[in-house]
Amino acid sequence: MSIKLITETEHLVRDKMIPVPDVVIVGAGFAGSVVARELAQRADKTVLVIEKRRHIGGNAYDHLDAAGVLVHDYGPHIFHTESQRVFEYLSRYTSWRDYQHQVVANIHGRYIPVPFNLNSIELSFDHYKAQQLVTRLIETYGEGRKVPIIELRDQADPLLTELADYVYENVFLGYTKKQWGVTPEEVDPSVTARVPVLVGRDNRYFQDTWQGMPLNGYTALFEALLDHHNITVCTGTDARQLLRFETNGKTGEDGPFTNILFNDKPFNGEVIYTGALDQLCEHRFGILPYRSLDFEFKTLPVKHILPCGTVNYTVSEEYTRITEFTWLTGQDLDVTTIMEEYPCGYEALPGQIPYYAIINEENNRHYQRYLALFSELANFHVVGRLAEYRYYNMDHIVKRALELADELC
Ligand code: FAD
Ligand code: UDP
Repeated sequence: MSIKLITETEHLVRDKMIPVPDVVIVGAGFAGSVVARELAQRADKTVLVIEKRRHIGGNAYDHLDAAGVLVHDYGPHIFHTESQRVFEYLSRYTSWRDYQHQVVANIHGRYIPVPFNLNSIELSFDHYKAQQLVTRLIETYGEGRKVPIIELRDQADPLLTELADYVYENVFLGYTKKQWGVTPEEVDPSVTARVPVLVGRDNRYFQDTWQGMPLNGYTALFEALLDHHNITVCTGTDARQLLRFETNGKTGEDGPFTNILFNDKPFNGEVIYTGALDQLCEHRFGILPYRSLDFEFKTLPVKHILPCGTVNYTVSEEYTRITEFTWLTGQDLDVTTIMEEYPCGYEALPGQIPYYAIINEENNRHYQRYLALFSELANFHVVGRLAEYRYYNMDHIVKRALELADELC
Protein backbone atom coordinates (compact mmCIF):
# COMPACT_ATOMS: atom_id res chain seq x y z
CA MET A 1 0.00 0.00 0.00
CA SER A 2 0.96 3.64 -0.24
CA ILE A 3 -0.81 6.76 0.90
CA LYS A 4 -3.52 8.35 -1.23
CA LEU A 5 -1.79 11.60 -2.00
CA ILE A 6 -3.09 14.47 -4.14
CA THR A 7 -0.31 16.93 -4.87
CA GLU A 8 -1.71 19.11 -7.66
CA THR A 9 -4.83 20.50 -6.06
CA GLU A 10 -5.00 23.99 -7.57
CA HIS A 11 -7.61 23.27 -10.24
CA LEU A 12 -9.49 20.83 -7.98
CA VAL A 13 -9.81 23.52 -5.34
CA ARG A 14 -10.76 26.18 -7.89
CA ASP A 15 -13.43 23.97 -9.51
CA LYS A 16 -14.65 22.75 -6.09
CA MET A 17 -13.82 19.18 -7.11
CA ILE A 18 -12.22 18.04 -3.85
CA PRO A 19 -14.52 15.21 -2.70
CA VAL A 20 -16.40 15.85 0.54
CA PRO A 21 -15.15 13.50 3.30
CA ASP A 22 -16.70 12.56 6.66
CA VAL A 23 -13.85 14.31 8.49
CA VAL A 24 -11.57 17.19 7.52
CA ILE A 25 -8.16 17.46 9.18
CA VAL A 26 -5.90 20.45 8.72
CA GLY A 27 -2.19 19.64 9.04
CA ALA A 28 -0.24 16.43 8.44
CA GLY A 29 2.04 16.69 11.48
CA PHE A 30 1.78 14.37 14.49
CA ALA A 31 -1.52 15.87 15.67
CA GLY A 32 -3.30 15.62 12.32
CA SER A 33 -1.82 12.28 11.22
CA VAL A 34 -2.62 10.45 14.47
CA VAL A 35 -6.22 11.69 14.59
CA ALA A 36 -6.60 10.87 10.87
CA ARG A 37 -5.42 7.30 11.38
CA GLU A 38 -7.60 6.72 14.41
CA LEU A 39 -10.80 8.07 12.85
CA ALA A 40 -10.15 6.24 9.58
CA GLN A 41 -9.43 2.93 11.30
CA ARG A 42 -11.48 2.86 14.48
CA ALA A 43 -14.52 4.86 13.33
CA ASP A 44 -14.33 3.87 9.64
CA LYS A 45 -14.62 7.53 8.60
CA THR A 46 -13.36 8.88 5.29
CA VAL A 47 -10.75 11.48 6.19
CA LEU A 48 -9.29 14.29 4.14
CA VAL A 49 -5.99 15.67 5.46
CA ILE A 50 -5.17 19.10 4.06
CA GLU A 51 -1.52 20.16 4.35
CA LYS A 52 -0.17 23.44 3.05
CA ARG A 53 3.43 22.24 2.79
CA ARG A 54 4.50 20.03 -0.09
CA HIS A 55 5.17 17.13 2.27
CA ILE A 56 3.70 15.31 5.27
CA GLY A 57 5.20 15.13 8.78
CA GLY A 58 4.85 18.75 9.92
CA ASN A 59 7.92 19.95 11.76
CA ALA A 60 9.15 16.38 12.23
CA TYR A 61 9.64 15.90 8.46
CA ASP A 62 13.03 14.50 7.42
CA HIS A 63 14.64 13.65 4.08
CA LEU A 64 17.96 12.48 2.63
CA ASP A 65 20.08 15.46 1.58
CA ALA A 66 22.43 15.51 -1.43
CA ALA A 67 25.18 13.85 0.65
CA GLY A 68 22.87 11.03 1.73
CA VAL A 69 22.45 12.27 5.29
CA LEU A 70 18.94 12.02 6.78
CA VAL A 71 18.33 15.60 7.89
CA HIS A 72 15.48 17.23 9.79
CA ASP A 73 14.36 20.26 7.81
CA TYR A 74 12.68 22.04 10.74
CA GLY A 75 15.13 21.45 13.58
CA PRO A 76 16.47 18.33 15.31
CA HIS A 77 13.76 15.98 16.58
CA ILE A 78 14.59 13.36 19.20
CA PHE A 79 11.76 11.18 20.42
CA HIS A 80 11.41 10.69 24.18
CA THR A 81 8.45 9.92 26.40
CA GLU A 82 7.22 8.69 29.75
CA SER A 83 3.97 7.53 28.15
CA GLN A 84 3.84 3.81 27.46
CA ARG A 85 0.67 4.35 25.44
CA VAL A 86 2.39 6.82 23.12
CA PHE A 87 5.47 4.65 22.70
CA GLU A 88 3.45 1.50 21.97
CA TYR A 89 1.16 3.38 19.62
CA LEU A 90 4.00 4.78 17.50
CA SER A 91 5.74 1.40 17.59
CA ARG A 92 2.93 0.07 15.38
CA TYR A 93 4.21 2.38 12.65
CA THR A 94 7.97 2.30 13.15
CA SER A 95 10.80 0.30 14.63
CA TRP A 96 13.28 2.25 16.69
CA ARG A 97 16.99 2.95 16.69
CA ASP A 98 18.18 2.95 20.28
CA TYR A 99 19.52 6.48 20.63
CA GLN A 100 20.11 8.45 23.82
CA HIS A 101 20.66 12.10 22.95
CA GLN A 102 23.60 13.92 24.51
CA VAL A 103 24.21 17.65 24.48
CA VAL A 104 27.25 19.61 25.59
CA ALA A 105 27.61 23.34 26.01
CA ASN A 106 30.60 24.98 24.40
CA ILE A 107 31.73 27.24 27.26
CA HIS A 108 34.77 29.22 26.16
CA GLY A 109 35.97 26.28 24.06
CA ARG A 110 35.34 23.52 26.61
CA TYR A 111 32.58 20.94 26.22
CA ILE A 112 30.43 20.67 29.36
CA PRO A 113 27.46 18.24 29.66
CA VAL A 114 23.96 19.81 29.59
CA PRO A 115 21.74 19.51 31.60
CA PHE A 116 24.42 20.80 33.93
CA ASN A 117 25.10 17.91 36.33
CA LEU A 118 27.69 16.64 38.81
CA ASN A 119 30.08 15.76 35.95
CA SER A 120 29.67 19.30 34.61
CA ILE A 121 30.59 20.70 38.03
CA GLU A 122 33.80 18.66 38.10
CA LEU A 123 34.73 19.89 34.62
CA SER A 124 34.01 23.53 35.50
CA PHE A 125 35.50 24.04 39.00
CA ASP A 126 38.77 23.09 40.69
CA HIS A 127 38.80 19.77 42.52
CA TYR A 128 38.24 21.15 46.03
CA LYS A 129 35.43 23.53 45.06
CA ALA A 130 33.77 20.85 42.92
CA GLN A 131 33.73 18.43 45.86
CA GLN A 132 32.15 21.06 48.09
CA LEU A 133 29.50 21.88 45.50
CA VAL A 134 28.65 18.24 44.80
CA THR A 135 28.30 17.46 48.51
CA ARG A 136 26.17 20.53 49.20
CA LEU A 137 23.89 19.91 46.21
CA ILE A 138 23.26 16.31 47.29
CA GLU A 139 22.68 17.35 50.94
CA THR A 140 20.25 20.06 49.90
CA TYR A 141 18.22 18.39 47.17
CA GLY A 142 19.00 14.67 47.30
CA GLU A 143 20.51 12.55 44.51
CA GLY A 144 18.54 12.41 41.29
CA ARG A 145 16.64 15.69 41.86
CA LYS A 146 16.19 18.02 38.92
CA VAL A 147 16.42 21.63 40.06
CA PRO A 148 15.22 24.43 37.75
CA ILE A 149 17.81 27.19 37.48
CA ILE A 150 15.27 29.75 38.71
CA GLU A 151 14.77 27.68 41.89
CA LEU A 152 18.52 27.18 42.39
CA ARG A 153 19.06 30.93 42.13
CA ASP A 154 16.42 31.52 44.77
CA GLN A 155 18.08 29.77 47.70
CA ALA A 156 20.29 31.55 50.25
CA ASP A 157 23.27 29.17 50.74
CA PRO A 158 26.37 31.11 49.55
CA LEU A 159 28.03 28.00 48.09
CA LEU A 160 24.96 27.12 46.04
CA THR A 161 24.54 30.77 45.06
CA GLU A 162 28.00 30.65 43.56
CA LEU A 163 27.03 27.55 41.56
CA ALA A 164 23.68 29.03 40.51
CA ASP A 165 25.35 32.23 39.31
CA TYR A 166 27.91 30.25 37.32
CA VAL A 167 25.30 28.07 35.62
CA TYR A 168 23.00 31.03 35.03
CA GLU A 169 25.78 33.10 33.42
CA ASN A 170 27.39 30.31 31.42
CA VAL A 171 24.50 28.06 30.41
CA PHE A 172 21.24 30.01 30.50
CA LEU A 173 21.74 33.74 30.06
CA GLY A 174 23.31 33.95 26.59
CA TYR A 175 21.36 31.03 25.11
CA THR A 176 18.01 32.31 26.39
CA LYS A 177 18.69 35.86 25.18
CA LYS A 178 19.39 34.48 21.70
CA GLN A 179 16.47 32.05 21.72
CA TRP A 180 13.78 34.31 23.20
CA GLY A 181 15.25 37.82 22.91
CA VAL A 182 14.90 38.29 26.71
CA THR A 183 16.60 37.10 29.92
CA PRO A 184 15.73 33.81 31.70
CA GLU A 185 13.68 35.72 34.33
CA GLU A 186 11.50 37.14 31.59
CA VAL A 187 10.48 33.80 30.03
CA ASP A 188 7.86 31.59 31.63
CA PRO A 189 9.60 29.49 34.35
CA SER A 190 8.39 26.29 32.65
CA VAL A 191 10.67 27.06 29.68
CA THR A 192 14.04 27.01 31.44
CA ALA A 193 12.74 24.24 33.75
CA ARG A 194 12.82 21.95 30.67
CA VAL A 195 16.61 21.84 31.17
CA PRO A 196 17.13 21.70 34.96
CA VAL A 197 20.35 21.27 36.92
CA LEU A 198 20.63 17.54 37.57
CA VAL A 199 21.88 16.25 40.92
CA GLY A 200 23.33 13.16 39.27
CA ARG A 201 25.78 11.91 36.69
CA ASP A 202 23.47 10.98 33.83
CA ASN A 203 24.86 12.84 30.81
CA ARG A 204 21.79 12.20 28.63
CA TYR A 205 19.67 15.20 27.63
CA PHE A 206 16.46 13.33 28.48
CA GLN A 207 15.87 10.82 31.26
CA ASP A 208 12.58 9.43 29.87
CA THR A 209 11.92 5.69 29.96
CA TRP A 210 11.39 5.46 26.21
CA GLN A 211 13.66 7.32 23.83
CA GLY A 212 15.06 6.76 20.36
CA MET A 213 14.79 7.63 16.70
CA PRO A 214 12.39 6.10 14.17
CA LEU A 215 14.57 3.50 12.46
CA ASN A 216 13.81 4.68 8.91
CA GLY A 217 13.17 8.29 9.86
CA TYR A 218 10.09 10.35 10.72
CA THR A 219 8.76 10.70 7.18
CA ALA A 220 8.59 6.92 6.84
CA LEU A 221 6.69 6.80 10.15
CA PHE A 222 4.16 9.34 8.78
CA GLU A 223 3.83 7.40 5.54
CA ALA A 224 2.88 4.33 7.57
CA LEU A 225 0.45 6.32 9.75
CA LEU A 226 -1.36 7.83 6.78
CA ASP A 227 -1.41 4.65 4.71
CA HIS A 228 -5.08 3.70 5.11
CA HIS A 229 -7.79 3.27 2.46
CA ASN A 230 -10.03 5.83 4.23
CA ILE A 231 -7.39 8.60 4.23
CA THR A 232 -6.64 11.04 1.42
CA VAL A 233 -3.90 13.62 1.86
CA CYS A 234 -3.82 16.85 -0.16
CA THR A 235 -0.40 18.48 0.12
CA GLY A 236 0.47 21.98 -1.09
CA THR A 237 -3.04 23.12 -0.16
CA ASP A 238 -3.91 25.84 2.32
CA ALA A 239 -7.07 24.82 4.18
CA ARG A 240 -8.30 28.41 4.06
CA GLN A 241 -9.05 27.81 0.36
CA LEU A 242 -11.50 25.05 1.24
CA LEU A 243 -12.85 25.86 4.69
CA ARG A 244 -14.77 28.97 5.65
CA PHE A 245 -16.44 30.03 8.85
CA GLU A 246 -19.65 32.04 9.03
CA THR A 247 -21.51 33.86 11.75
CA ASN A 248 -25.27 34.21 11.95
CA GLY A 249 -25.93 37.90 11.57
CA LYS A 250 -23.84 40.86 12.70
CA THR A 251 -22.13 40.05 15.98
CA GLY A 252 -18.97 42.17 15.76
CA GLU A 253 -15.38 40.94 15.44
CA ASP A 254 -15.67 38.77 18.59
CA GLY A 255 -18.91 37.17 17.42
CA PRO A 256 -18.46 33.38 17.43
CA PHE A 257 -18.69 31.37 14.23
CA THR A 258 -21.86 29.35 13.80
CA ASN A 259 -21.34 27.44 10.53
CA ILE A 260 -18.49 25.71 8.73
CA LEU A 261 -18.43 25.64 4.94
CA PHE A 262 -16.39 23.19 2.88
CA ASN A 263 -16.22 23.93 -0.86
CA ASP A 264 -18.69 26.72 -0.01
CA LYS A 265 -21.32 24.21 1.19
CA PRO A 266 -22.37 23.64 4.82
CA PHE A 267 -20.19 20.96 6.43
CA ASN A 268 -21.39 19.13 9.52
CA GLY A 269 -18.65 16.49 9.81
CA GLU A 270 -15.83 16.83 12.32
CA VAL A 271 -13.08 19.35 11.53
CA ILE A 272 -9.75 18.92 13.32
CA TYR A 273 -7.47 21.92 13.05
CA THR A 274 -3.77 21.68 13.96
CA GLY A 275 -2.41 24.98 12.59
CA ALA A 276 -2.18 28.44 14.19
CA LEU A 277 -5.57 29.94 15.09
CA ASP A 278 -4.50 33.53 14.39
CA GLN A 279 -3.58 32.53 10.82
CA LEU A 280 -6.92 30.80 10.32
CA CYS A 281 -8.66 34.00 11.39
CA GLU A 282 -6.47 36.16 9.12
CA HIS A 283 -4.95 37.78 12.25
CA ARG A 284 -8.14 39.68 13.03
CA PHE A 285 -6.96 40.36 16.60
CA GLY A 286 -3.31 40.80 15.58
CA ILE A 287 -0.47 38.25 15.32
CA LEU A 288 -0.10 35.85 18.25
CA PRO A 289 3.48 36.21 19.57
CA TYR A 290 5.87 33.45 18.44
CA ARG A 291 9.59 32.98 18.01
CA SER A 292 10.91 31.67 14.73
CA LEU A 293 14.19 30.12 13.56
CA ASP A 294 16.44 30.21 10.53
CA PHE A 295 18.44 27.07 9.81
CA GLU A 296 21.76 26.77 8.05
CA PHE A 297 22.90 23.36 6.81
CA LYS A 298 26.53 22.52 6.05
CA THR A 299 27.97 19.28 4.66
CA LEU A 300 31.58 18.57 5.59
CA PRO A 301 33.99 15.90 4.27
CA VAL A 302 34.61 14.25 7.65
CA LYS A 303 32.95 11.43 9.61
CA HIS A 304 32.09 13.53 12.66
CA ILE A 305 32.70 17.16 13.50
CA LEU A 306 30.95 17.33 16.90
CA PRO A 307 31.59 15.17 19.99
CA CYS A 308 27.87 14.25 20.26
CA GLY A 309 24.47 14.99 18.70
CA THR A 310 24.20 18.64 19.69
CA VAL A 311 26.50 21.39 20.92
CA ASN A 312 24.82 24.39 22.58
CA TYR A 313 26.60 27.72 22.20
CA THR A 314 25.76 29.28 25.52
CA VAL A 315 28.33 32.09 25.73
CA SER A 316 29.30 32.79 22.11
CA GLU A 317 28.11 32.77 18.47
CA GLU A 318 24.85 34.01 16.98
CA TYR A 319 23.36 30.57 16.64
CA THR A 320 22.05 28.74 19.70
CA ARG A 321 23.09 25.23 18.79
CA ILE A 322 24.56 22.97 16.14
CA THR A 323 23.25 19.47 15.55
CA GLU A 324 25.09 16.76 13.65
CA PHE A 325 22.48 14.45 12.18
CA THR A 326 24.62 11.35 11.74
CA TRP A 327 24.82 11.03 15.53
CA LEU A 328 21.03 10.88 15.61
CA THR A 329 20.59 8.51 12.68
CA GLY A 330 23.64 6.33 13.24
CA GLN A 331 24.56 6.60 9.55
CA ASP A 332 28.12 5.51 8.86
CA LEU A 333 29.27 7.84 6.08
CA ASP A 334 32.48 9.62 5.10
CA VAL A 335 30.66 12.95 5.14
CA THR A 336 28.52 14.65 7.72
CA THR A 337 25.79 17.30 7.69
CA ILE A 338 25.29 19.81 10.49
CA MET A 339 22.57 22.38 11.14
CA GLU A 340 22.99 25.74 12.88
CA GLU A 341 19.91 27.31 14.47
CA TYR A 342 19.48 31.08 14.40
CA PRO A 343 16.50 32.31 16.44
CA CYS A 344 14.56 35.33 15.21
CA GLY A 345 11.35 37.25 15.76
CA TYR A 346 8.14 36.22 14.02
CA GLU A 347 6.15 38.69 11.93
CA ALA A 348 3.96 36.31 9.91
CA LEU A 349 5.95 37.13 6.74
CA PRO A 350 5.41 34.77 3.79
CA GLY A 351 7.40 31.57 4.37
CA GLN A 352 8.15 32.37 8.01
CA ILE A 353 7.21 29.59 10.43
CA PRO A 354 5.90 30.16 13.98
CA TYR A 355 7.99 27.56 15.84
CA TYR A 356 7.62 28.55 19.49
CA ALA A 357 4.60 30.08 21.23
CA ILE A 358 5.78 32.73 23.70
CA ILE A 359 4.08 31.53 26.86
CA ASN A 360 2.77 34.19 29.28
CA GLU A 361 -0.58 35.32 30.67
CA GLU A 362 -1.12 38.17 28.26
CA ASN A 363 -0.42 35.99 25.22
CA ASN A 364 -2.66 33.27 26.61
CA ARG A 365 -5.52 35.79 26.88
CA HIS A 366 -4.82 36.81 23.28
CA TYR A 367 -5.00 33.15 22.24
CA GLN A 368 -8.21 32.59 24.23
CA ARG A 369 -9.84 35.44 22.34
CA TYR A 370 -9.17 33.57 19.09
CA LEU A 371 -10.30 30.26 20.58
CA ALA A 372 -13.59 31.80 21.75
CA LEU A 373 -14.50 32.46 18.11
CA PHE A 374 -14.91 28.69 17.69
CA SER A 375 -16.76 28.02 20.97
CA GLU A 376 -20.16 27.45 19.35
CA LEU A 377 -18.92 24.95 16.77
CA ALA A 378 -19.38 21.53 18.35
CA ASN A 379 -17.75 19.84 15.34
CA PHE A 380 -14.56 21.97 15.34
CA HIS A 381 -11.61 20.74 17.43
CA VAL A 382 -8.15 22.16 17.96
CA VAL A 383 -5.19 19.95 18.78
CA GLY A 384 -1.46 20.49 18.33
CA ARG A 385 1.44 22.68 19.34
CA LEU A 386 0.33 25.61 17.18
CA ALA A 387 -3.42 25.14 17.51
CA GLU A 388 -3.23 25.01 21.32
CA TYR A 389 -0.52 27.68 21.52
CA ARG A 390 1.59 25.50 23.84
CA TYR A 391 5.22 24.35 24.13
CA TYR A 392 4.49 20.68 23.46
CA ASN A 393 6.94 17.92 22.58
CA MET A 394 6.02 15.27 20.01
CA ASP A 395 4.89 12.76 22.63
CA HIS A 396 2.54 15.31 24.25
CA ILE A 397 0.97 15.88 20.87
CA VAL A 398 0.52 12.18 20.14
CA LYS A 399 -1.09 11.76 23.56
CA ARG A 400 -3.46 14.71 22.98
CA ALA A 401 -4.32 13.41 19.51
CA LEU A 402 -5.11 9.92 20.85
CA GLU A 403 -7.30 11.43 23.57
CA LEU A 404 -9.22 13.50 21.03
CA ALA A 405 -9.65 10.43 18.84
CA ASP A 406 -10.95 8.46 21.87
CA GLU A 407 -13.52 11.18 22.42
CA LEU A 408 -14.61 11.31 18.78
CA CYS A 409 -14.74 7.55 18.32
P1 FAD B 1 3.26 20.61 13.29
O1 FAD B 1 4.30 19.57 13.19
O2 FAD B 1 3.66 22.04 13.23
O3 FAD B 1 2.17 20.31 12.16
C1 FAD B 1 1.15 21.24 11.83
C2 FAD B 1 0.95 21.17 10.33
O4 FAD B 1 -0.19 21.96 9.96
C3 FAD B 1 2.13 21.74 9.56
O5 FAD B 1 2.61 20.78 8.64
C4 FAD B 1 1.54 22.95 8.84
O6 FAD B 1 2.10 23.16 7.55
C5 FAD B 1 0.07 22.56 8.74
N1 FAD B 1 -0.83 23.71 8.58
C6 FAD B 1 -0.90 24.80 9.38
N2 FAD B 1 -1.84 25.65 8.91
C7 FAD B 1 -2.36 25.09 7.79
C8 FAD B 1 -3.35 25.49 6.87
N3 FAD B 1 -3.99 26.65 6.96
N4 FAD B 1 -3.63 24.66 5.84
C9 FAD B 1 -2.98 23.48 5.70
N5 FAD B 1 -2.03 23.06 6.54
C10 FAD B 1 -1.73 23.86 7.59
N6 FAD B 1 9.65 17.54 20.10
C11 FAD B 1 10.21 16.45 20.65
O7 FAD B 1 9.49 15.60 21.24
N7 FAD B 1 11.56 16.23 20.57
C12 FAD B 1 12.39 17.10 19.95
O8 FAD B 1 13.62 16.89 19.89
C13 FAD B 1 11.82 18.27 19.36
N8 FAD B 1 12.62 19.17 18.75
C14 FAD B 1 12.06 20.30 18.22
C15 FAD B 1 12.89 21.22 17.60
C16 FAD B 1 12.36 22.39 17.05
C17 FAD B 1 13.28 23.39 16.42
C18 FAD B 1 10.96 22.61 17.13
C19 FAD B 1 10.36 23.87 16.55
C20 FAD B 1 10.12 21.69 17.72
C21 FAD B 1 10.66 20.52 18.28
N9 FAD B 1 9.85 19.57 18.88
C22 FAD B 1 10.41 18.45 19.45
C23 FAD B 1 8.38 19.74 18.96
C24 FAD B 1 7.66 19.07 17.79
O9 FAD B 1 8.07 19.67 16.57
C25 FAD B 1 6.17 19.24 17.97
O10 FAD B 1 5.73 18.78 19.22
C26 FAD B 1 5.35 18.50 16.90
O11 FAD B 1 5.92 18.57 15.63
C27 FAD B 1 3.97 19.12 16.88
O12 FAD B 1 3.14 18.45 15.97
P2 FAD B 1 1.86 19.20 15.43
O13 FAD B 1 1.16 18.26 14.54
O14 FAD B 1 1.11 19.81 16.55
O15 FAD B 1 2.41 20.47 14.61
N1 UDP C 1 18.35 26.62 27.72
C1 UDP C 1 19.46 27.38 27.94
N2 UDP C 1 20.68 26.83 27.70
C2 UDP C 1 20.84 25.57 27.25
C3 UDP C 1 19.70 24.79 27.02
C4 UDP C 1 18.45 25.36 27.25
O1 UDP C 1 19.35 28.54 28.31
O2 UDP C 1 21.99 25.13 27.05
C5 UDP C 1 17.02 27.23 27.99
C6 UDP C 1 16.55 28.13 26.84
O3 UDP C 1 15.77 29.17 27.36
C7 UDP C 1 15.73 27.16 26.03
C8 UDP C 1 15.02 26.37 27.11
O4 UDP C 1 16.03 26.22 28.13
O5 UDP C 1 14.82 27.83 25.17
C9 UDP C 1 14.49 25.03 26.71
O6 UDP C 1 15.53 24.27 26.10
P1 UDP C 1 15.21 23.03 25.14
O7 UDP C 1 16.49 22.38 24.81
O8 UDP C 1 14.15 22.21 25.76
O9 UDP C 1 14.62 23.79 23.86
P2 UDP C 1 14.05 23.22 22.47
O10 UDP C 1 14.80 21.96 22.15
O11 UDP C 1 12.59 23.01 22.68
O12 UDP C 1 14.33 24.35 21.53
